[in-house]
Amino acid sequence: MTIEQLTQAIYVVSAALFILALKFMSEVRTARWGNWAGVLGMVLAVGGTLLRPEIIDYRWIAAALVIGSIIGAPMGLLMPMTAVPQRTALSHAFGALAAGLVGTAEFYLRGGALDAFSMGVLCLEVLLGYLTFTGSLLAFAKLQELIPTRPIVYPGRNYISLSVLGIAVLSGLYLVVNRGPAEVFGLLVGAALLFGVLLILPIGGADMPTVIAILNSYAGLSSAFMGFLLDNRLLIVAGALDGSSGLILSILMCKAMNRSFTNVLFGAFGQVRVSEAEKGRTVQAYTPQDAAAVLEMARSVVIVTGYGMAAAQAQHAVKELGDLLMGRGVDVKYAIHPVAGRMPGHMNVLLAEAGVPYDLLYEMDQINPLFPETDVALVVGANDITNPAARTKPDSPIYGMPILDVDKAKTVIFIKRGLGPGFAGIDNELFYLPQTMMVFGDAKKVVTEIIAALKG
Ligand code: NDP
Repeated sequence: MTIEQLTQAIYVVSAALFILALKFMSEVRTARWGNWAGVLGMVLAVGGTLLRPEIIDYRWIAAALVIGSIIGAPMGLLMPMTAVPQRTALSHAFGALAAGLVGTAEFYLRGGALDAFSMGVLCLEVLLGYLTFTGSLLAFAKLQELIPTRPIVYPGRNYISLSVLGIAVLSGLYLVVNRGPAEVFGLLVGAALLFGVLLILPIGGADMPTVIAILNSYAGLSSAFMGFLLDNRLLIVAGALDGSSGLILSILMCKAMNRSFTNVLFGAFGQVRVSEAEKGRTVQAYTPQDAAAVLEMARSVVIVTGYGMAAAQAQHAVKELGDLLMGRGVDVKYAIHPVAGRMPGHMNVLLAEAGVPYDLLYEMDQINPLFPETDVALVVGANDITNPAARTKPDSPIYGMPILDVDKAKTVIFIKRGLGPGFAGIDNELFYLPQTMMVFGDAKKVVTEIIAALKG
C-alpha cells in the first residue's frame, strides 16, 4: 500500500467517524460517544494528512500544534457552560481564519496558474472564510459583553452591507475571469472582512447563538471549497457536513422561536421595550419558605428550567429539590423547551450534568397536555419560553413561538432575581396573574433555601 492509498483509507474512516459523530450527537444518551467519534475522526484526519508526501518539514507544524494546544486546552477546560456560545464563536473565528489564510496562500502561490473553476472556489473560500472570521469575532465580543450587546442600527444599514457584499462578489468574478491582479484580491479580502462586521453589528447579543450556527455553516462551506481547491476529499466531506449541520441547526432554532432567517439576520431583534412593570402593574412576591409550603402540599410538580438556571449554575440544587420532592411521593417531571437557555440542548446538558435521569425529562409536546393536571409549575430562571404572549398577542415579537403552557398549571412559582425581561426583551403577562407566586433571588440561592425549608 502506498502512502497515498493509506492516507485515502484513513480519510474514509475519518469521514465515517464524522458522520457517526453527528448521528450519535442527535440523542442525549449517545451524545458522549458522538464527541469521542468526532475526536477520533479529527485525530485520524490530522494524522493522515501529516503522512502526505507534500509535507517535507514538520517544524512549523509542531510549532502550530504547541500554540494551538496552549490556546485550545484552557478554552475547553476552563470556560464555564454558560460561556459555550462565545467559546464556539471563537473556534469558528479561528477555523474560518485558517480557511481564509490557506486561500490567500494559494492565491499568491499559484493564482495565475489556476483554472476558472479553481479560482472560483478560491474566491468563495476566501469570501466566506474572512467574513466568518470578523463576524465570529464580533459575535464573541457581543456575547462576552466586551462591546454593547444591543443591535447597533443606523439608517440604510442593509443597503450598505449589501453594497460591501456586492463589491466582494464583483471582485471575485473579476478574478475568475482575469486570475488577478493582487489588488483586486486585496479588495475581495477587505470587503469580506468588512462585511462580516457589518452583518453582525445590527444583530442583538441574544440572537447570537442562532447567528453562530449560521456562521458555523459558512465556516464549513469555506472548508469544503478549500477541499475542492486542494483536491482534498476529506475536507470536502467534513466541510459539507459542518456546513449542512450548521444550516439545519440554525433553521431548527429559527423554527423553535417562530422567527424567519431574514428576521434574525436583518430584524435588529432585542431592542428594549416598555415593560408592564413600568406601566404600574404589580406582582405578588413570596419567600422561599412560602414556596416550600406550596410544594410540600403538591402532588405533581413540573420543573421548568431556563437561562437563569444556567447563569446561576443552579442545576445541582434543582436536582436535589426534585429528588427531595420525589422522596416525599410527589410526581416530579422536568419540562424541556427546545430553545431554553442560550444554545440548543442547553438544559439537557445541564440537567444531565447534575444527574437528572433522562426518563424524567419531557419534551414540550409531551408535557404541554399534562399542565392542566399539574399542581405546581416551578419555573427556575426561565421567562420567554413560558410567556403566553406567544399565543395571545399578535404584535408580540415572540408571537407564534411554541411555549411551555405553565399558565395552565394550578400554581406557577417563578424563581428569578427581579422582573427583568428575558432574551426577547419583553414583559411576561404570567408574572401578574393571581395563580403566580414570584420568588425573587438568585436561582441557586432560592432553590437551596427552599430545600432547607422543606428539610426543616
Ligand atoms: P430568558 O432569556 O427568556 O429568561 C431568563 C430569565 O432568567 C431572565 O428573565 C432573568 O430574569 C432570569 N435570570 C437571569 N439570571 C438569573 C439568576 N442568576 N437567577 C435567577 N434568574 C435569573 O430564558 P429562557 O430560557 O426562558 O428562554 C430562552 C430565550 O433565548 C428564548 O427567547 C429563546 O428564543 C432565546 N434563544 C435561545 C437559544 C437556544 O438555542 N437555546 C438561541 C437563541 C435564542 P431576572 O433578570 O429578573 O433574574
